[in-house]
Amino acid sequence: MQVIIDKNAGVCPGVDRAIHIIEDVLEENRTITALGPIIHNRYEIDRLSQLGMKTREQSILEKNGDFEPLRKEKLFIRTHGIPKRNYEKLKAEHLNVIDGTCPIVRRLQKRVERYYENGYQIVIVGKAKHPEVIGLLGYCDDTGIVILDEFDFDKIDFSKKSVLVSQTTISQQKFFEIKEKLSPLMNDLEIVDTTCKHINKRHDHLMEFSKNVDVVLVVGGKTSSNTGVLYGICSQANSRSYRIESAGEIRLNWFHEEDIVGITGGTSTPNWQLELVRDYLQKYSPLRGFNK
Ligand code: SF4
Repeated sequence: MQVIIDKNAGVCPGVDRAIHIIEDVLEENRTITALGPIIHNRYEIDRLSQLGMKTREQSILEKNGDFEPLRKEKLFIRTHGIPKRNYEKLKAEHLNVIDGTCPIVRRLQKRVERYYENGYQIVIVGKAKHPEVIGLLGYCDDTGIVILDEFDFDKIDFSKKSVLVSQTTISQQKFFEIKEKLSPLMNDLEIVDTTCKHINKRHDHLMEFSKNVDVVLVVGGKTSSNTGVLYGICSQANSRSYRIESAGEIRLNWFHEEDIVGITGGTSTPNWQLELVRDYLQKYSPLRGFNK
């Protein structure tokens, strides 16, 4: 059995930036407290926690007048960003904040705010409970309409001047499908494709990668929206695709002796996790008579 790691896998620039900021602070022997889990990957969070990172529930920002426990801490805003009201609270309280919001998400927040101020109804293709979407809604006074498919169209006021944007990690294909269905129904609809280009590039490549191997393992957090999208692409191209969070979930009866196994991961899955999965397969495959 041959095992190869997708050379385009690994964390995206936004997550890479966040991890480096945290590591730099910790290396200087200072402490840092993330507001909410920094990414959808509990293994990377565990690694950073062992280096000294703390995590607090972001809901602490929603409580009024209870900032005392935060005063001595350096607070880190995760890649997904936070609602504007929470930014303003942190500023008003003069808390020590490092903003790890991905610059692409930040640009989207500003865009949503600008359209909202200009009287547009904001329609977001995304998942209502995703932290990035919760953050975006905070830039239009929580008036935005979140849709995932045409069954959500009845939430939209078709008579209003509107703009259609997307959560960055939604697949571009899905965004275009919704755009095609919604456009004929609205007279005054602006469309801004805000899907992340780093992910889009990866999608094209992943289709080819999945076709060229016998089995695909997609490594990523169970709650990672992006890992789910990537897994969908791999499954379309290769029916022997499996989504796992760690090597412990691998079942050796997924493989045959002569298989080429491809390992890829979500945008919040660092290379070290992919290497662990590769090492696991290379270590255990001889038990089943592989590598003869
Ligand atoms: S997926 Fe794109 S938008 Fe999201 S954190 Fe990564 S680089 Fe930023």
